[in-house]
Amino acid sequence: MMNHDIAPVYPWLQTHYQSLQRQQRADQLAHALLLTGQAGLGKTQLALRFADWLLCVNHATCDQPCGQCQVCRLILADTYPDRLLIEPEAAGKAIKVDQIRQLLQRLTLSHHVPDGYRVIIIRQADSMNHAAANALLKALEEPQANTVFILVADQLWRLPATILSRCQRVAIATPETTDSIAWLTQQTDQPIERASQLLAHAHGAPLSASQLADSESYQARESLIDAFLTRLQAGQFTTFDAPGVTLTHEIFDWISACLLDIIHCYHGSADSLLTYQAQAGILRQLSQCMRVSQVFDVLQEVLRSKRQYLSGIQLNLSLLMDHWLLQLLPAKR
Ligand SMILES: [Zn+2]
Repeated sequence: MMNHDIAPVYPWLQTHYQSLQRQQRADQLAHALLLTGQAGLGKTQLALRFADWLLCVNHATCDQPCGQCQVCRLILADTYPDRLLIEPEAAGKAIKVDQIRQLLQRLTLSHHVPDGYRVIIIRQADSMNHAAANALLKALEEPQANTVFILVADQLWRLPATILSRCQRVAIATPETTDSIAWLTQQTDQPIERASQLLAHAHGAPLSASQLADSESYQARESLIDAFLTRLQAGQFTTFDAPGVTLTHEIFDWISACLLDIIHCYHGSADSLLTYQAQAGILRQLSQCMRVSQVFDVLQEVLRSKRQYLSGIQLNLSLLMDHWLLQLLPAKR
């Protein structure tokens, strides 16, 4: 029955989904919910999925949106007028007051299904600017029947206390590592070791880890760091060459993280603190035979080059890498 276009409920979100359903069935659903937790856990998917269920005319008898009723069909066609999604107009931008004003205007219209719900999902609610948050506050202060706001935010501290106090908080925890690895290996066909590496890079957030698995930039990073460490380990200078890797601002972060790992190893930090955990063996070896002050100096250089790059100065990847390696190699004792 379920249409595959309806947002999935990830295993680590099931208990939250069911608990929200129980609240609705007990007539105790808050008129404003705030889903919080780190990025990459699927908070927005949970919000969308719960909204779809709430809006489905058969929700009293189904645990999933039926996918068949008129409302579900309109939702799947993305044309249901009582399912409203507000988000920043572009990545990294604020949600503006005009967006909230338009929303408030919509709220004055009658519901498409007279006794049905209207759900407003505010994605990245923590990016609302001050005026937008104030405008929204008015709507939260005067709840309308069968209208539910679902705010989604990674960074709670960015939301005004007045908004926080009007929402029921649903805190989504980062799932257990073993559960996430099991899910990742199944979803992405990655072996356990690589899944655990991806998860570590994504700070334990399974969806971020799964996106990393497909990202070209992750693969570029692996080949760049491999090439970098191999040369450092060999201890002899050879011109840098990492096929398929072009200079982007991320490269400076990758190399910085690698140098920081060497410094961490030097100070005896645990593997779990390293960015490149899979290379822990090589990093530890290198940390034993390098002067840490020189590693620090190169780290400064990398950060300086990043600033130059961001300011528009043309730089050449091979020359940069050669330059850093030439400074690091004599640091080997
Ligand atoms: Zn339905």
